[in-house]
Amino acid sequence: MKAMVLKELTSLKENQTPLELTELADPVPEAGQILVKISACGVCHTELDEIEGRTPPPHLPVVLGHQVVGHVVGAGSGASAFETGDRVGIAWIYSACEHCEHCDEGNENLCPDFKATGRDVNGGYAEYMTVPENFAYPIPAVFSDVEAAPLLCAGAIGYRSLKLTLLEDGQDLGLTGFGASGHLVLKMVRHRYPNSKVYVFARNPKERAFALELGAVWAGGTEERAPEKLRSIIDTTPVWKPVVEALANLAPGGRLVINAIRKEDVDKEYLLRLDYPTHLWMEKEIKSVANVARSDVRGFLKLVAEIPIKPEVQEFALEEANQALVELKTSKIRGAKVLKID
Ligand SMILES: [Zn+2]
Ligand SMILES: [Zn+2]
Repeated sequence: MKAMVLKELTSLKENQTPLELTELADPVPEAGQILVKISACGVCHTELDEIEGRTPPPHLPVVLGHQVVGHVVGAGSGASAFETGDRVGIAWIYSACEHCEHCDEGNENLCPDFKATGRDVNGGYAEYMTVPENFAYPIPAVFSDVEAAPLLCAGAIGYRSLKLTLLEDGQDLGLTGFGASGHLVLKMVRHRYPNSKVYVFARNPKERAFALELGAVWAGGTEERAPEKLRSIIDTTPVWKPVVEALANLAPGGRLVINAIRKEDVDKEYLLRLDYPTHLWMEKEIKSVANVARSDVRGFLKLVAEIPIKPEVQEFALEEANQALVELKTSKIRGAKVLKID
């Protein structure tokens, strides 16, 4: 099969073609696994973190990609949940032990044996992949393959982030950063919490305009103060300045939820601006979001099919994965990038 393969860690700044088009043997499903012929795979900021070594794959070479949509074309022994031809999605959570304390509580995203799709095992920048059948999800018919792909990461983790804010209808929410996850969260909030106002902090004026278009009541720069103090804020940026500035925008007892697998060190000195009375005093708290549990993927897919929310998508061919990654790193085009694989 054709795959776009990461063979060594590198910096996108110096190397704009980190992935190499490679012919690999077709994967064979093991016991309990299904074989999926991939039709679409979303491109995520986490791929940049993997390529640049902030969350490095434990083994190289590896096939990246964890927002995978395709059709079942085979099954290993004992795998019977799906039939040939069924459409399935695969998310960041590839597997977990299924019997530790965290797994028992439904938080398998925290499992010590958590394995990530497209980092710890081969993912979706390819024509085929295998996955344990317990970690594949039926895709609601209302979405095309390409539309469904970005829902599996940006959407599912946005769903988990929103859950962790503990927001109630009528309480005001801030979003700092307004990319793929931010715009899905805004649409979700408008549906689930119709009386909550959403305030968006974004560096780019185009993102701010997009936020207002989607129903935010206010949009300003990262360092601006919103007209109200906010009950909770979700940060989806890769850097530190938005964390510090968001804390200043929180109401007493407010909670900042950081949805980022890793932060870059480029502006780490910004943390020295942290002023206890301005940013932390009055029982403000910070919570990170780690991975996704299966209930987040399922819950989100169900919710977006009901609303329905369709993400804005920009398509690339499999062979154009490098270009998609470079654009993700540098450009300001709105919406989610998806590889369309024939
Ligand atoms: Zn992702
Ligand atoms: Zn576990």
